Amino acid sequence: MTRELSGPREKCGVVGVSLDDRAAARPLYYALYALQHRGQESAGIVTHDGFQQHDHVEMGLVGDAFTEADLDGLAGGVGIGHVRYPTAGSVDTSCAQPFSVSFKSGSLGLSHNGNLVNAGEIRDELAGHGHAFTSDGDTEVIAHDLARNLLEADLVRAVKRTMGRIHGSYSLTIMHDDTVLGVRDPEGNRPLCIGELEDGYILASESAAIDVLDGELVRDVRPGELVVLDDDGQGFESYQLVESERSAHCFFEHVYFARPDSRIDGNLVYDVRRELGRQLWEESGVDSDVVMPVPDSGRAFASGYAEAAQDEGASVEFAEGLMKNRYVGRTFIMPTQDARERAVRLKLNPIRDVVEGKTVTVIDDSIVRGTTSRQLVELLRDVGAEAVHFRVGAPAIVAPCYMGIDMATREELIAADATTEEIRAEIGADSLSYLSVGAVATALEEAEADLCLGCVTGEYPYDIDGETTDRDVERPVVGDAAPADD
Ligand code: SF4
Repeated sequence: MTRELSGPREKCGVVGVSLDDRAAARPLYYALYALQHRGQESAGIVTHDGFQQHDHVEMGLVGDAFTEADLDGLAGGVGIGHVRYPTAGSVDTSCAQPFSVSFKSGSLGLSHNGNLVNAGEIRDELAGHGHAFTSDGDTEVIAHDLARNLLEADLVRAVKRTMGRIHGSYSLTIMHDDTVLGVRDPEGNRPLCIGELEDGYILASESAAIDVLDGELVRDVRPGELVVLDDDGQGFESYQLVESERSAHCFFEHVYFARPDSRIDGNLVYDVRRELGRQLWEESGVDSDVVMPVPDSGRAFASGYAEAAQDEGASVEFAEGLMKNRYVGRTFIMPTQDARERAVRLKLNPIRDVVEGKTVTVIDDSIVRGTTSRQLVELLRDVGAEAVHFRVGAPAIVAPCYMGIDMATREELIAADATTEEIRAEIGADSLSYLSVGAVATALEEAEADLCLGCVTGEYPYDIDGETTDRDVERPVVGDAAPADD
């Protein structure tokens, strides 16, 4: 999927490290590099040297956001980091992360991946208690709530109290003074994992960030779990603060957002994508001369699809028939339909020799607005494809995401109010099929009930205003009642 042009965007990547006897800044910097695909608008690191916090947060890519001098200034062996892609309209440094602040209860740094659905209620309540907010982001709401709870409770109980009040999707890395912790919401919507390094431990959105530091993946942080890294880098403590009967892992992480070389909730993303491709052949395989991916993320789907076809004796050949111009990037993010259409032609070029006179199956991971797909089909016909079949390695996206993915509105989503046949006609393909929800669950080796499927079913795992939920869930009542915890 050409994500810069029309696809959904992951909004954030988070990381935290605690090292024995080494500055945390450079390992954090490399880890953020490995998570760059999760957010390109801003990058930041906050460290602690045992006495005070040091922070550097800048707009732009990781490679541009830090100089050698910036990294040298981030003293201390513990720290957290963040990459962010904010929604359009709120591109400014006040929302860039990590969010860092000093309270009576000590210094706090917070990196957040996800989105709260009750941040407004908590913000209003805290504002009534005199808390002054500097941004409109929900991360600052979590920081203020935690700071307030830390006035009365120890770290573990304070986190538990805050978890009892916030509702929505969150994977957090937090630094309280020189202690680094990681928290995953009770449904485990967004990923977070623990890794062991030669001289410490790391928490990261994806295991690729552990790999880049030559570390070993220990395991995923469990839904509802708090992990506290030892200050000396020697280990970590685990606290299962909230039990939940069902998880709500975002299936789209596997389909689209995460790096294929990351392992999330027990599965290598690359393997899942290949299995999704195999399932796609099982459900809607079509005879054709060539099967080709939409680069880059369609590649694993297409190879799984072709392999499954060949296993059944079909003579379909896997080929790279669309070449991506790697140098067309974010400069071509343009808001108008006309600009998007032009950008597709600059970004992807079909190889005439692979396509001419052939029946072609194109595999993509999603169709959002349909513009890119229609352009692709047109491009392939222009260079002589006899037929173009379109296969999508996920169910149709029919509804927006409220959990931290910049998806699109219902008005923009082509599948929100169109049938598959209507979409086929709109994009001009000879045939079109999506993958079923059941096949996604099979490929992820998870029960459907333990996945978030909100954007493809319109039923969400959280209590969201104006939307229906797929489970028995209610927002916590936010008020001044004494916390029912501890
Ligand atoms: S709505 Fe879709 S993109 Fe958002 S968390 Fe759920 S599965 Fe992921």
